[in-house]
Amino acid sequence: DRAAAEGRRWMTYDPAELEDAEWKMSLLARLDQAVERDEIWVAYQPKIEMASGRIIGAEALARWSHPEKGEVPPSQFIPAAERSGRIENLTAHILDSAVGATASIHRAGHTDFSIAVNLSARLLDSPALLAMVSSTLARHKLAPHHLILEITETTAMASQDGIVETLEALSASGVRLSIDDYGTGFSTLDYLKRIPADEIKIDRSFVSMLEKSQSDRIMVHSTIQLAHSLGRKTVAEGVENGVVLNELRLMQCDYVQGYYTGKPMKLPALMEQLPQRESEKEPVTIV
Ligand code: C2E
Ligand code: MG
Ligand code: MG
Ligand code: MG
Repeated sequence: DRAAAEGRRWMTYDPAELEDAEWKMSLLARLDQAVERDEIWVAYQPKIEMASGRIIGAEALARWSHPEKGEVPPSQFIPAAERSGRIENLTAHILDSAVGATASIHRAGHTDFSIAVNLSARLLDSPALLAMVSSTLARHKLAPHHLILEITETTAMASQDGIVETLEALSASGVRLSIDDYGTGFSTLDYLKRIPADEIKIDRSFVSMLEKSQSDRIMVHSTIQLAHSLGRKTVAEGVENGVVLNELRLMQCDYVQGYYTGKPMKLPALMEQLPQRESEKEPVTIV
């Protein structure tokens, strides 16, 4: 009967589910100390300017090297940090590392280099955000236009006035804004008009299909054209081969990121990939 069925349902438990719950609990318990113990660090993925083929910046991607669990992907610990009120601390730490790294890249002579940092939508209604960003820039003496904050479309999409105001205040402070994972959210033309973004970052799911799918090709191409006619730059994420890179070149995409042009890497590896200082370059011989 029904009670017995309920009872049976109650007693059956899924071991995988329990393990998952335990895993999440242990992650959260550990996350508190992870920052202090230097387990959270930043990987840098090169961002390439299509016209020159040069690395003009990088995206900062959070990494957690857990002593027992190994590498925990950001897709697991970022949402956990968001839900448990730890995202502000975590972001402050990542921003500080990324801006500090960029200041050292500038000191090495690459003064055009800019850094993109992902910003959780949850922080857009935090009154402390603007102060956090400007004090971090001031601490490392980095000009605001060298920082790009990536905001996912879905989030900002909420289009609450408060959020638009925060974005406008950030933009007015000189920081640049980028709409991340463009195409996966609920983008409306009104939204594109209202958000003061300098850049639109086309989601990997469209970019990776460029070779095979005519409709994805049309989507990407028309997004680039729309962005350009609104005075915005375009970035394609998830470029995994030369065929896709060439397609994007023909479409006049401004910047590319992907495993083909550079995987996320530690800071010293990135610095090795940057060109020598202008002054150290061999002079060009004109024949
Ligand atoms: P995202 O901001 O869209 O970052 C791009 C993701 O695609 C990164 O995954 C990157 O490693 C990966 N990727 C780059 N090129 C390729 C490629 O050619 N092929 C494939 N298959 N993947 C590529 P990752 O590092 O695992 O980060 C996942 C997401 O976690 C990010 O997506 C971002 O939403 C979030 N995230 C990472 N770091 C932070 C952070 O510091 N703060 C916040 N709030 N979110 C972060
Ligand atoms: Mg991003
Ligand atoms: Mg993205
Ligand atoms: Mg993405």
